[in-house]
Formats: sequence, C-alpha cells, structure tokens
Amino acid sequence: MPHRVAVVVPTPAHSSIAGPLSYLSELPLVAGTLVRVPLGRREVLGVVWDASSTVEERDAAVQERPVTSCLDAVAPMSSPWRQLVTFSSNYYQRSLGEVALAGLPPQLRDLTLEQLARRLKRPAAAPRELPKQRGPQLTGEQLEALAQIEAAAGPFLLFGATGSGKTEVYLRAVERMLERDAQSQALVMVPEINLTPQLQERFIARFGAGSVVAMNSGMTPAQRLKSWLAAHSGAARIVLGTRMAVFASLPRLRLIVVDEEHDPSYKQQEGARYSARDLAVLRGKLEQAKVVLGSATPSLESWQASEKGRYRRLVMASRVGQTGACTGTGARGSTAGAFPAVRLVDMNLQPKQTVFSPQLLAAIQQRIERGEQSLIFLNRRGYAPVLACTACDWKSECPHCTAFRVFHKIDRTLRCHHCGYTERVPRACPVCGNVDIAPVGRGTEQLEEQLAALLADVKLPDGQPVRIARMDADSTRLKGALEQQLARMHAGDVDVLVGTQMVTKGHDFRRITLVAALNPDAALFSSDFRAPERLFSLLLQAAGRAGREQARAGASEMWVQTWHPHHPLFTALQRYDYAGFAAQQLKEREQAGMPPFGSQALLRAEARSQEAAQAFLRAAAAAATDLEGADRVTLYSAVPMTIQRVANVERAQLLVESSSRSALQRFLAGWQPVLQATREKGLIRWAVDVDPLAI
Ligand code: ADP
Ligand code: ZN
Ligand code: ZN
Repeated sequence: MPHRVAVVVPTPAHSSIAGPLSYLSELPLVAGTLVRVPLGRREVLGVVWDASSTVEERDAAVQERPVTSCLDAVAPMSSPWRQLVTFSSNYYQRSLGEVALAGLPPQLRDLTLEQLARRLKRPAAAPRELPKQRGPQLTGEQLEALAQIEAAAGPFLLFGATGSGKTEVYLRAVERMLERDAQSQALVMVPEINLTPQLQERFIARFGAGSVVAMNSGMTPAQRLKSWLAAHSGAARIVLGTRMAVFASLPRLRLIVVDEEHDPSYKQQEGARYSARDLAVLRGKLEQAKVVLGSATPSLESWQASEKGRYRRLVMASRVGQTGACTGTGARGSTAGAFPAVRLVDMNLQPKQTVFSPQLLAAIQQRIERGEQSLIFLNRRGYAPVLACTACDWKSECPHCTAFRVFHKIDRTLRCHHCGYTERVPRACPVCGNVDIAPVGRGTEQLEEQLAALLADVKLPDGQPVRIARMDADSTRLKGALEQQLARMHAGDVDVLVGTQMVTKGHDFRRITLVAALNPDAALFSSDFRAPERLFSLLLQAAGRAGREQARAGASEMWVQTWHPHHPLFTALQRYDYAGFAAQQLKEREQAGMPPFGSQALLRAEARSQEAAQAFLRAAAAAATDLEGADRVTLYSAVPMTIQRVANVERAQLLVESSSRSALQRFLAGWQPVLQATREKGLIRWAVDVDPLAI
C-alpha cells in the first residue's frame, strides 16, 4: 500500500500558505528525507516535511504523483533545521520551499544519482596537515570571557574593542567545545567574503585543513556541494561562512559565532530578506548551541538586549598587549588610552574647496617619512559623482534611473552605479554643445590623483617616492585583484591606501598609524534613522585599523574632517564612548517608538509607473483595515523610494509599524493572502521586508 508524503518544493515566492505538496511513495519516508519529485513538467529537489502516513483511500479528485527518487545516501535534514526553515518562512513572509531550497546546494538537484553517489564516495582528499599551532597565552579579559561562555547558557554579546583579541576567544571557545565532544560542530559567521580567507587561515592553522570548510556565495556549485556534504555528514568540525551559512546543515552544532555582528551584510536584501544574526540566535535555541555575537560597536538591537539581560554582555576593553596603557573603564563600556587619538579638523576654518587640510597632509607626510602606512577613506567611488555642463543645466543623469551617472576618468566613462548603464563621456554637452563640461564633487579615483600630486615631493626613509594605491569596488572587480591588493598592503608595498569603506573592515594591517575620514558629514543629517549608528560604528572600526602593532600604537591617530566638529557623535568618538553614544541613540529611538522599541516592516512595490506602484500599496492598505491585529499596527502612506526609478522600474514603499512584534507578525500573516489577491495593472512585483535595515 503506497504512502502519502508531504514534500516541500521550490514554489513561487508568495505561496507560503500553500505549504508542502502531497506525493505518493512506495516506501515510508522519514521527515527530512531529500527527494526528487515532479512539479509541473519539471523534476525538482524537495524535502519530506512530515513523516509519511499510509494512504487509506485515494482522493480521486486530487492528482497525487509519485516521488521520482529518494536521495537516501544523504542523511535526512534534522528536525531543528526544519524548524529553522519553518520559522524563517513565517517570520519573513516567504514560502517554505523558497527558504528550504535556498539553504541547500543546487547540485543536489542537478547531479544524477550516480554522480551524487560518486561524490559521496570520493574520499575527501586528505589535506596536507601542517603541525597545528598553539594559541598565545590568553589575557585576563580573554580568560574571563571564555569562563563565562563555559559557565552560562548565553546568548553572549562579546563587546570587545578592535584588537582586543575577539577572534582568539572564538578559536578557544571552539577548542574547548571540541575537547568536551570531539564530534561536535561550530558555525562561525563573518559579514564579508573578503574577510573569510584571513579568518580561514587562522582556523586552519589551529584546527587543521581537514576540519574547516567554507560556505559563501563566491564558491562554485561543486565547492558548495563539497562543503555542504562535509558539514551535513558531520565530517567537518567548523563551518566558516557568510550569512547564507546560517542555513548550513550541522547535525552536531554546539556553538555559533557571529563576528562583527553589527554589520549590515548579515541582512539578506533580496528574496527572503532574513537577518542571519537574528536567525543565529534563534538557531542556538533550537539546537541548544551556544551563541556568541561579537563586536566593538554592537548593533543597537543587540546592545539593548544586553542592557536588558536577554544577552549576557562580555567586555574586553583593552587591546592585546596594551593593557598597561589602557585607561578604559570596561564596566561602562568605554575604552580609551591605547587607542588612536581622534583628531577633528574643523572645515569651517579651511579655505573653500579644501580637500586635504594642511594639518592632515602634514600628518600623512610624517607617516611616510617614518615608513608607516596611512589609510584614507571616502564613501564614493569613481572620479566624480556628477559631470555637469558649465553653460546650461545638463548633468550626467542616468536615462533609466533617478540618479546621476558617475564619471570614471580611468576609462573616460559615465557609469550608473544602480543599473550599470555605461557610456563614453561625451566630447561636448549633449544639450548645448558647450565643450566645457566639468566634474562636480569627488570620488576615490580623484582623491588618489590629487594625493599623488600633493605628495609628489615627499620621500620614503630610503629616498624612494611614495606608493599610493586605491581599493574600492572598481579596483577589486577582477578575480584575485582584492587578494593581490591586500597582500601588497600587508607586505608594506603601499604607503597610502585610498578607498571606500571597504578598507575599514576587519583587516589586520600591522603598520597603519593614521586613518582619515575625509567627509563623513552626510550621515549626520540623513533621513535614515540608522545613519548615525552606522557612521559611529564605521569611524570606530576604521580607527581600529590603526596602531595594531604595539610599538607604533602610541603615535596612531584617527583624523576626521568635518563641518560639525561639536556634534555629539564626534565627541563620543573622541572618547571611544560607545556606551554613551548607544544610550543617547536608544533614548531617541525609544521616544520615537523606533526599533528596537517598536517593530517595522516595509511593503515594497515595483511597477511600470510610480502611480501603479503606489496604487498597489494603497489598495493593499485599504484591504487591511479589518485584519486581525490591524488596530495595533500603523500603516503609513505609500511613498516613492529614495531612488525612485532603477533600470526603468518605478519603486515605492509603505511602512508598517507596531509597538508589538507579535501583533505585527499576526497582522502580516493575515495580510499575505490579501496581498496575493491584490491586482494592479502595471505592477511588476512586490515584497515584504520584515525588520528592514534601510527605510
Ligand atoms: P579582534 O578580533 O578583537 O580585533 P584579534 O583576535 O584579531 O582581535 O587580535 C588582534 C591581534 O592580537 C591578532 O594579531 C592576534 O593574533 C593577537 N592576539 C590575540 N590574543 C592574543 C594574546 N592573548 N596574546 C598575544 N597576542 C594575541
Ligand atoms: Zn550644456
Ligand atoms: Zn541607471
């Protein structure tokens, strides 16, 4: 007698209500089994969601089709993994199938059963095992943090200054976990692919190449399958990955680390818009694994949770090896002393059009003459953000987006950073024919050029000329380019590195003694309520790149050129007073009912016209008034998104807010079928973004 099984298959994004589909199987199948099933005319990968029950009577009306094949060489997906998928699907308003299948390597679907069997049999090529390194003697603060991780359940917020040795704490926590249970597994997440190689090296040096696998979107499908199988079979001890790794299958997961937990990259921005950091905490609960979130500048959400005791805060206020010089008051969470001194340059006192104030230039020059490195950042790539005609109103607008195309001097192009539309720079103004068209504003390319001119006469200690390099999305586009540039920087072949915020993240450059932010003011007055939080974190993390080598720490400086030197954000930065800054921001957020004190979701719509996009949002809002929980949520007006049109698609959004997370969740669940039933001519797509990061 055949069995009926409920199988989760890759269904369209918005069919969460549909849930698993029913199929027939000759043999009983346990929940979590991976199968291939027919869906329409395709054959797809699916996951058995509920244990099979015997088919008593066949319902003639429902055409149930048999399971095509069963990947029984691969162990079933665990119950906590399925719970994680179910939660994510409900919470983020996406279909079960979309979330489940996004967490599985595509080759599980694409390979034939024979190919898959061969992959499974293939012994993992025994990696060259080098002698495993032993870690350094731990500092008092590291020992204390580890002791607490051992003793309590967590989740933990490891609030550790840049260079305080957080990574060493992660390594030891994994080591102790393995000492207790040699078969256990750890998941270590980092925000950026760029940061994985460096961390991977440290983990491999400690635990051996055979224990560590990587998981990120930069891998080939074959590599992904290999890592996935190693983790799923329990052969790998440590999975190191970016946000997608939160869905990795780890049957003996005991520890989850989220490094730089404040980083916005943990939020997926398309498809199922999940927060890998938040899911990590949930997963810890489901799997009874300890969770450690680490940062020198925690997200205000996590900081607030540690204020309320929901997370246990572990403080490491001083830099490794610099404890003596540190005057930080760890308990309050502010640190100062061995950290680079913050120098604010008041741009009101500089001549107009000043790019580098004379003070900053002199400080950079001093570093060069001492053979030290400087890091200059500006959040704008390209040569100039706009090209404009000096005679008429023409500007380098993108014909497809509400944005300017950026002037790139290197290849003399105008490039749209939103849709990619690229053209050669015109010889003359396309409107009036004037040949005098000029760049307005400044990007990293121009900065590099100007700096080279300004430093032309400065020499290194050995009399050689200055070496200036640039690192941004343009300079690192080619495969391997980033690694090469980082290597040059580490080897000391670069004296001044100019770049976007990319250069400020995580890298452990040893010889940097000066970091400068040229023009960070825009974020002070942004309409995005998270902008100050992001700026503070960016500047403090950037400062953390300087003075990492003890011998040079004393002479290290963080420079900020600003028109608002008395802004409280900069005052807090000068004192390295994260806690003070967080308290002030949280107070404002509480008064305004903003996260983490209230919950938000965005309904976004894309359409052929702005009217259609907004009409859809208005219709959806109008149909929501009678829904359960509607009295506890506030629906705002439909508005165009900040960049209203991208690639000829008009975009609009509607904010939904509630003081209660669960009320918002109930409301969204009830709204989902309404949204699916709402039709609007010209509408291209819509999506719900729960806990959005940018509003
Ligand atoms: P963080 O992640 O907090 O920025 P890291 O863990 O990268 O800090 O540590 C900064 C530097 O200090 C690294 O080069 C690391 O090898 C070194 N380090 C960490 N802990 C110790 C220790 N207990 N003794 C000596 N050096 C250490
Ligand atoms: Zn003109
Ligand atoms: Zn464009």
